[in-house]
Amino acid sequence: MNEARWREKTAHGKIVCRLCPRGCVIQEDSPGFCGARKNIAGSLHSLAYGRPAAIALDPIEKKPLYHFYPGASTISLGTLGCNMRCPHCQNASLSFAAPEDFLSIPLRQPETIADEAIKNGSRIISWTYNEPLVWAEYVLESARAAREKGISSVLVTAGLANPEPWAELLPVLDACCLDIKGWGDGLYKKLTGFPGFEYVLQNAVSAFDSGCHLEIVTNLMSGWNDDDASLLAIAEWIGTRLSPDVPWHITASRPAHRLMDLAPTPPGTIERAAALGRKAGLRHVYGGNIHNKKLQETLCPQCAAALIRREGFLVRENLITQNGRCPHCETEIYGRF
Ligand code: SF4
Repeated sequence: MNEARWREKTAHGKIVCRLCPRGCVIQEDSPGFCGARKNIAGSLHSLAYGRPAAIALDPIEKKPLYHFYPGASTISLGTLGCNMRCPHCQNASLSFAAPEDFLSIPLRQPETIADEAIKNGSRIISWTYNEPLVWAEYVLESARAAREKGISSVLVTAGLANPEPWAELLPVLDACCLDIKGWGDGLYKKLTGFPGFEYVLQNAVSAFDSGCHLEIVTNLMSGWNDDDASLLAIAEWIGTRLSPDVPWHITASRPAHRLMDLAPTPPGTIERAAALGRKAGLRHVYGGNIHNKKLQETLCPQCAAALIRREGFLVRENLITQNGRCPHCETEIYGRF
């Protein structure tokens, strides 16, 4: 177990965790809300440090990242625990595991993760599956060590972090795939169990401003976050506070966790949301988890030529030049290619 950072001691052996805005006040021998940090004998420990519960080789498109080395593979890691309680969680077996389950996972030193990527023929590590902020110390050390070996790091996150740890993570990250789950604190409370909307927006801005490659994801759930006003608000915010070039992935949800009776999001809802995104001026809007090849294509924002054609997570054709331009009109395309 590793001593956790971003914490303060209070009187009577309690510790306030400052990693995320929940700010858990943790008494001795108890875990924080996420289950990944625990007060042991008056010190805060990261139970998740070095304990990857899932490792797999994925296409980068699965994160989803469409403008970050399209067609590349990425070694993907997740641990246990989560600082949210989304009723539709797609990875509940990881996110809501018991804190004692960490101990059954073999320990991996941070320097070994880049070697795992190289061994699998990948140049990218993705911190994903559960919320990776819960093992921020390990992500930070692993990503720093990986960069020295020329390996990139991607954070797939809901962005519910305090500004200080977030600012420490950004310099070691090459790309971030960040959820904006809905519009407004009320909806965030319903969707994640915590009204952290402003933290998420602020962290998206600081990620973009830092030069980290950024793509935004919104998973649509019928009747929860799929109304026109909310979708337009998200799209307009991306276009004005980030950039119209930042890709927006609108994905269909499937029945999961506590919402097993929620019908899968109809393709028409994704298509309507994509139209709103384009109406708001976004240049790269994608639909995910539905069969619609047109909503998976990357188009040149200038001449509208199809530059990348995809089928599922496979890249069928990629015409973007090595210096990231449209081969027809030479317009620069946002991303790393
Ligand atoms: S990271 Fe975990 S322990 Fe720390 S404040 Fe957030 S939920 Fe609580």
